[in-house]
Amino acid sequence: MERRIDFSRERQMLCGRCDHRWRVDLDWIDRWEQGTETCPGCGMTCVHEDSPRVTVDPEDPALDDDRVAQFSWYHTSTQPNWPTRDYDPAAVLTSETRRLMGGGERVAEWAARQRAKALHVGTYEAAVHNMLRRSRDQADQGSQFYLYRVRLKPSVVVGEGWLVDPGNFVGDVVLDEVCLPGVGVARYLNYHEDPGGLSLALGMDAIASVQRIAVPLPDTGDGGWVRDAVAALEGVSGAVVPATGKLARFVRPASSRAVLGRELGAFLAGRLPVNLQDPFASAAAFVEGQDPEQWARRTSGLFDLIDNPTRVLAALDRQGPREV
Ligand SMILES: [Zn+2]
Repeated sequence: MERRIDFSRERQMLCGRCDHRWRVDLDWIDRWEQGTETCPGCGMTCVHEDSPRVTVDPEDPALDDDRVAQFSWYHTSTQPNWPTRDYDPAAVLTSETRRLMGGGERVAEWAARQRAKALHVGTYEAAVHNMLRRSRDQADQGSQFYLYRVRLKPSVVVGEGWLVDPGNFVGDVVLDEVCLPGVGVARYLNYHEDPGGLSLALGMDAIASVQRIAVPLPDTGDGGWVRDAVAALEGVSGAVVPATGKLARFVRPASSRAVLGRELGAFLAGRLPVNLQDPFASAAAFVEGQDPEQWARRTSGLFDLIDNPTRVLAALDRQGPREV
């Protein structure tokens, strides 16, 4: 069952000092992070340790234990076969790295710790947000991402209540520490992606099946934006012009095409909810020398992940589920 996808929905805030709870929109949170809003209860700004943060919305349908396993959950990864039972985290280590880690036994212990980590799934919004954040990282720039839709086993036992974002959101959570014996999934408040939403930490045994598509879905190119962007980019020079003048050595040389590409990307970013604008602009950054059509289709596809999830869900519907 799909929940309503809404990247712009209002969030619940909770003040750590005065316990005031209230609803805000994403623009308020943006102003808050810049220090121009205060807690309506006690006037505190964002610089204090116990200052207000987003919290779980009491209306969140995922608070209902019986519905958790009925909902679709999402995950983005650069792994083409997530999750796998025979995952060997040590497989990618070079012999030099193995030696630096202390040799075979140490590597085996490290691999066992990696395998004991919980998997993470969340709302559609959280999965897309995660991908945009990761696309900014050097290591994942240009990587192919996959969007997974996860069906849980109907019999899965849901841990009571919810946890605060357990440690490091990238997945450094040991499953046994968040799921007591017999419990299959633990809900937690996600601060970083789809802030205030509930994500799940879980083991592979809680998953019935997954469907996968490569994202972004390339734009078909019949849409006006792609056509116009390609025409504009092809109309300007792709030659890199070194900067001149006194400050030249501080300025990265760029082609007119790359500059225009960044402007086009920034324009699309400006149409998104405020908390996605920077990650989108970075993920869609025009790389010097890139093919204009390839860039425009990918950028339009990234935009569609947020602006037109219906097309994405329809593409997932066409994928046969893989049992885990
Ligand atoms: Zn307060």
